[in-house]
Amino acid sequence: MFELRQITKAYGEQRALDGLSLRIEPAATTALIGPSGCGKSTLLRVLIGLVGADAGEVLLDGAPLTPARLPDARLRMGYVIQQGGLFPHLTARDNATLMAAHLGWPRERISARLDELVTLTHLPADVLDRYPGELSGGQNQRVALMRALMLDPEILLLDEPLGALDPMVRSELQDELKQIFAALKRTVVLVTHDLPEAAFLADRIVLMRAGRAVQTGLLADMVQRP
Ligand code: ADP
Ligand code: ADP
Repeated sequence: MFELRQITKAYGEQRALDGLSLRIEPAATTALIGPSGCGKSTLLRVLIGLVGADAGEVLLDGAPLTPARLPDARLRMGYVIQQGGLFPHLTARDNATLMAAHLGWPRERISARLDELVTLTHLPADVLDRYPGELSGGQNQRVALMRALMLDPEILLLDEPLGALDPMVRSELQDELKQIFAALKRTVVLVTHDLPEAAFLADRIVLMRAGRAVQTGLLADMVQRP
């Protein structure tokens, strides 16, 4: 789906990505794991084109992801930033449907899609008319996920989607995410710093350190054997 070749990105003096090369397989969940500051969020931003690489190449479907291709490519991607990134002055419903409304979907189509997503994410329907400040952490992340899924993207980029949740809610949402990934069969790139979570949710794990992908594979292949 994606191929990254020798990607370098620095913020001033700080190298966030340092010659990173990686393939992201289609219709599978890839977890990016590694310590804070190793470049995971930056890598997601490069994939969706929010951040341009200083050097290297990003290929989508085998062809360079040029600025001219970006608007179309972005419509194929759903993105959940850390803490969800919901707009605080919009209700949950308006957050979720913003992009579809902007694209001019008819009201009935938006409402039918919303119904599907409420079912998929197990969001209580009465939550839709509340504002993000009135939602629990788990509800907030469900709405963020609904917003990312609204246009039925082929690619889902999730940056620590469960990072800020307490352990009970986190474990419940891990189960739900696993079901959602299995039901949708999309290309998912999931950032986490939690190895058990990566092992539970992902088909493939990419271990990052200091702006590079240092190891890629199945968890079983990564565990050191005595
Ligand atoms: P992460 O959990 O991905 O490490 P951070 O807490 O480091 O996230 O970053 C949160 C936000 O602050 C991001 O939007 C990131 O781009 C920005 N940020 C991170 N480090 C710096 C920095 N050294 N200078 C300015 N902005 C930064
Ligand atoms: P991770 O997601 O693995 O925590 P990030 O991609 O957020 O890592 O950050 C990688 C490095 O780049 C860190 O050193 C971070 O402080 C720095 N960084 C990230 N975003 C910014 C930013 N907007 N401005 C300056 N430095 C940043």
